Amino acid sequence: MRKKIVAGNWKMNLDKISSKNLVLEILDKTDNNDINIIISPPFIYLEDSVKDCLRRDNVLIAAQNCSSYDNGAYTGEVSAKMLSTIGVDYVIIGHSERRQYFNESNEVLNDKLTQAISNNLKIIFCCGEDLEQRENNEYFDVIKDQLNSTIFLLSKENFRNIVIAYEPIWAIGTGKTASSDQAQEIHFYIRSLIKDKYGDKISNETSILYGGSCKPSNSLEIFSQHDIDGGLIGGASLNSTDFVSIIKSL
Ligand code: PEP
Repeated sequence: MRKKIVAGNWKMNLDKISSKNLVLEILDKTDNNDINIIISPPFIYLEDSVKDCLRRDNVLIAAQNCSSYDNGAYTGEVSAKMLSTIGVDYVIIGHSERRQYFNESNEVLNDKLTQAISNNLKIIFCCGEDLEQRENNEYFDVIKDQLNSTIFLLSKENFRNIVIAYEPIWAIGTGKTASSDQAQEIHFYIRSLIKDKYGDKISNETSILYGGSCKPSNSLEIFSQHDIDGGLIGGASLNSTDFVSIIKSL
C-alpha cells in the first residue's frame, strides 16, 4: 500500500500567530486516519508547529529546504541535522522556486539529498517541466533527466525515503492546473521509470504527489487517478477550509 499524503507548502507566508492558528484549525477539522498530512511552514515556525502537531500520528512536519553542507561557516544556512534534532520528519528538495531563484543545480540537490538521508529525514522531491518544454513535447525527457541526475542515483535502500512531487512549473501559482489526464500520464510514466530502476515493489510503494494550483474544486478529480497518491499544495494550504477540503477529497 502506498501512503496517501497531502502536504501544505506555506512558502514565505504567514506570521507566528496565524501559523499557529492555521495548524490548530487543520488539527481540529481532520481526524487521525490513514491520510498523512504534512505541514511545511517557514523554518522559524517549525518548532512551535511540531510541538502542537505531535499530538497526532498522521500529522507530520516538513522543512522547505535544508543546507547542502553538514555544518560550519555558512551564514544563514540551516542544516539537516538541526532539523532532525527538533523533530522534523520531511524536507522538500528540488522545488522549482529554489532551482529557479536560488540557482540550485543537480549537484547542490544531490548534496542536499545526502544531508537529508544521513540525518534520517524523509524527502519530498519535486520535478516538473516548464511551459516551453510542455509545448515542445519535451516533458517526458525533461522529467527523466531530472530524476536520472538526482534521486535515481540513490541506492535502493535510500530511495525508500523519497516521496516524489510532480509539479509542472506552468501550473504552480498560476491558477492553471494540469488536467487529471495530463497529470496521470506523467505519474504513470514516473512510476514506470521507478520500476525500471528499482523494480516492481518499490515502484508500487512510492507515493507520487501532484502539485500545481490544486484546490478544492479540482482535487477530487486529480486524486481519483490511479497513480496520484495525493498533493503538494501551495496557495490553497494557507487557508484551513480549502486545505481540509483537499485532504477530505483524498
Ligand atoms: C507549490 O509551489 O508546490 C505549489 C504546488 O503551489 P500552488 O499550489 O500555489 O500552485
